[in-house]
Amino acid sequence: MKGPTESFPVAANRELGNAQLRSNLGNATSTIRAKRARVVEELPDWEALRDAGSAIKADVLANLDTYLLQFEQALTAAGATVHWARDGAEACAVVAEVARAHGADEVVKVKSLTTDEIELNATLAAQGIHALETDFAELILQLDGDWSSHILVPAIHRNRTEIRDLFQRTIAPDITSDEPGVLAEAARVYLRERFLNAKVGVSGANFGVAETGTLCVVESEGNGRMCTTLPPVLVSIIGIEKLVPSFADLEVFLQLLPRSSTGERMNPYTSLWTGVTEGDGPQELHVVLLDNGRTRVLEDEVGRQALHCIRCSACLNVCPVYSRTGGHAYGSVYPGPIGAILTPQLIGIENAPSLPFASSLCGACYEVCPVKIDIPRVLLHLREKSVDAVGGRTERAAMSGVGWVFGRAWRLRLAQRIGRVLQRPFVRDGVIRRLPPPLSAWTDSRDLRPIAPAHPSDENSGNDDE
Ligand code: SF4
Repeated sequence: MKGPTESFPVAANRELGNAQLRSNLGNATSTIRAKRARVVEELPDWEALRDAGSAIKADVLANLDTYLLQFEQALTAAGATVHWARDGAEACAVVAEVARAHGADEVVKVKSLTTDEIELNATLAAQGIHALETDFAELILQLDGDWSSHILVPAIHRNRTEIRDLFQRTIAPDITSDEPGVLAEAARVYLRERFLNAKVGVSGANFGVAETGTLCVVESEGNGRMCTTLPPVLVSIIGIEKLVPSFADLEVFLQLLPRSSTGERMNPYTSLWTGVTEGDGPQELHVVLLDNGRTRVLEDEVGRQALHCIRCSACLNVCPVYSRTGGHAYGSVYPGPIGAILTPQLIGIENAPSLPFASSLCGACYEVCPVKIDIPRVLLHLREKSVDAVGGRTERAAMSGVGWVFGRAWRLRLAQRIGRVLQRPFVRDGVIRRLPPPLSAWTDSRDLRPIAPAHPSDENSGNDDE
């Protein structure tokens, strides 16, 4: 999985200059937030559902080895072939091998963050196999060589006029209108034939049921249903943390997920399939169980709760940082608060050290998370790890200097006296707005209150070492 190529503050600063992005984000996130609040309000047992979701996920992670073997056994008994993939390269190799074995130079894909995480499309393209995105927003991004900026609404940063112009250049030269219905129809016409001719479909999975070997995909457009039913061969890639123990557990998550993601009572399409059924759907099913850093995350007792995530995106929609910077600033397929805690753990904190700092720690993400992931706690935990891993010598020296000053009252008083003299040229109307480097790192984005005048009792205190 690719990590950020630049630090979050640098990328965020650039994205903040995009007024169109901020306006799109503001509209979309406030609409989804309001819808979510309405449908959550309807459920008297919402908090109990959150507790149940959290408990089920904790149980799965605590007994993952058992559930994975049970899942494999159930899948095999139902006629599927199970592959274990340590990393993205191994998972991609399975898909390429299956496509080659069936003479397919194109596969049709359901929207899947897991396949984005392992860069499946690029890997297949390098082997002459085109992975066609069939989700409307993902298709837009693919046609324009762009990438997702929101878990649920990947093209949130594009407007409909841009999309019409893109379609004119690519799949629908005659299109003139930017009406949503016309744009959707153009994509539908383009995709329909590809669905019917596809030899291989590729999907992720929202859930895998350990006791039955059932896979579950929830979606809104019906393209997922096409991909998982029309091609004679299907490959489903599922992160090992996506299991639930029993079929009955789906009841909890199929209430939590749609309400938290799209603000709907249920998803328009919920597809469930168990192995292979003669004469009905794909006659060959491959299931790839993907690790790709997850067992390393599991080792961290605080950080492992990031693996509870059901990718609803509710935390993105309430985050004051995400709603201003958008998803690209996070430099990975997992943006927003969940990206800030999941990406550094999957790829190693040393490869994304600034992401845990991409938060004001307001706690809104924790309040909306349907599976009660304590994101602020994990952020603080990862900040500590980040400082340990890559913290600069200057920062350490500064902190130990501050510790030394605070260690004795007389030192603090002396430092304050010196500070009052040094700050004089910078105080305007009772506020410090600009300081020279390196202190400008603070005043570039916020004002600083000056050191308060000395209290008479401080100035008269003679005891230097209390
Ligand atoms: S961390 Fe929670 S709120 Fe955020 S995407 Fe995951 S499940 Fe949803």
